Amino acid sequence: MNDDCLMQQDRNFLWHPFTQMHDYAHRDLLLVDRAQGIRLYDRQGREYFDTISSWWCIVHGHSHPTMQHYVREQLARLDQVLLAGISHEPAIRLAAKLVELTPPGLSKVFYSDNGSTACEVAVKMSLQYWQQSGQPQRRELVALERGYHGDTIGTMSLGGVPEFHQAFAHLMFPSHRLPPPNCYRCPAGQLPPLKIAGGAGAGLATGEADSPAPPSAAGAPDRDEPFGVAGEVLRCDCQCLEPLAQLLAAEGERIAALILEPRILAAGGMIIYPATWLRRAAELTRSYGVHLIFDEVAVGFGRSGTMFALESAGVTPDFLCLSKGLTGGMLPMAVTMTSDEIYQAFYGEYGENRTFFHGHTFSGNPLAAAAALGSLAVFAQEQTMAGLPAKMAHLDRCLERFKELPWVGDLRRLGMIAALELVEDRATKRPYPASRRVGWPIFLAGLEQGLLLRPLGNIVYLWLPLSTTREEISTITEKMWQVLSNPANIAGA
Ligand SMILES: *Cc1c(COP(=O)(O)O)cnc(C)c1O
Repeated sequence: MNDDCLMQQDRNFLWHPFTQMHDYAHRDLLLVDRAQGIRLYDRQGREYFDTISSWWCIVHGHSHPTMQHYVREQLARLDQVLLAGISHEPAIRLAAKLVELTPPGLSKVFYSDNGSTACEVAVKMSLQYWQQSGQPQRRELVALERGYHGDTIGTMSLGGVPEFHQAFAHLMFPSHRLPPPNCYRCPAGQLPPLKIAGGAGAGLATGEADSPAPPSAAGAPDRDEPFGVAGEVLRCDCQCLEPLAQLLAAEGERIAALILEPRILAAGGMIIYPATWLRRAAELTRSYGVHLIFDEVAVGFGRSGTMFALESAGVTPDFLCLSKGLTGGMLPMAVTMTSDEIYQAFYGEYGENRTFFHGHTFSGNPLAAAAALGSLAVFAQEQTMAGLPAKMAHLDRCLERFKELPWVGDLRRLGMIAALELVEDRATKRPYPASRRVGWPIFLAGLEQGLLLRPLGNIVYLWLPLSTTREEISTITEKMWQVLSNPANIAGA
């Protein structure tokens, strides 16, 4: 079928996710024909850098031969079988690998098939656990404003991105919402910037993830974690944790769980926050016996610079949700990992009614499990994690000049993720109004440059595959400079 015909049929029959279809009434969508490494190709052979890892899931690049090999072998053997009361080797081997990779304490793996369900599973397990463990009053849930856990009704109820979910407000269950640790727009509002001599270079990263933090001495406040905002190094004592402390003091024994995205609130605006905040939030939550649900659906599998973002804070949650990068982005799959203690509360004679009645048709799909095993094999083969620090440092160097642009209010990076927050007024940090749709001309100009950029509101970001080479980082950031330094691409600049 030729392109025109395909596009016509797309208009006739396809409804795309997170897309205003009217935008394409007189404009064709990018029609991707094939992909190799970090490049997508259209049918004319034009190439586009996949700077957002195809919605944050591609890890080792597209079409990795090792992963293809794993999936092909599996395809010849077993395509799909239910996981209820049945098992198969790829699901077993992957579960064992995940337990080995994650911190001690996470010893059980529950499969599902997307990030939203991974989070819903954690929430349901937590609630049912408390009912079966003598604390049925623990029924309330806590989440962060600007947090994002998916688009199902349950995860929307715990979401903090009203732009996406407002229309369904009447369906959502009530839950507590806390202000996020947003360093650029610090809610405590009283952190004097403190320039540290010789701190240049450290300025770009908001709390490095490459070195795992030492476990903090019990009770000792970590006042000293330096981290950077717009190139300035700050010292922070996490005053923005006060609302959590107050909520726990008032209602701690009624709360079942706190759910959050470790180190970066991604869909809510690429809000990167220090490991100290995460560590202290975890300690505080734990001290009230409340479950911690870490949603690493987006950042798991290396994106933050460590295999899991939780490593930077040295904390282990009660539930860990993983999905996007789990199969290296090749096939849909998700897991909710938890502890033996949680698992045991569901274990008993059938008649005791402790069973976790939850499952999805494709839970633990053998092909997806094979892809995930293939991806983990590539991590070992290519020593992916060991290569990241040099790439991250190079990314910092390449991004440095973007700070000169008057419309760049903040520049932040965590691992292979970097975000530029565009503002109408740098001094007051006044954001561009949503009606300006700042991201749209940038998206279009990006395509012209051969870049797949997909700004989130006023946030232009890179979410690079871990396989991106230093050379590719140079090329991508140069092309991004061509887009962002041109005032014609900045609405209203
Ligand atoms: C994408 C995402 C989800 C939802 O995953 P889906 O597979 O799209 O349902 C949940 N949590 C986080 C942090 C995400 O980024």
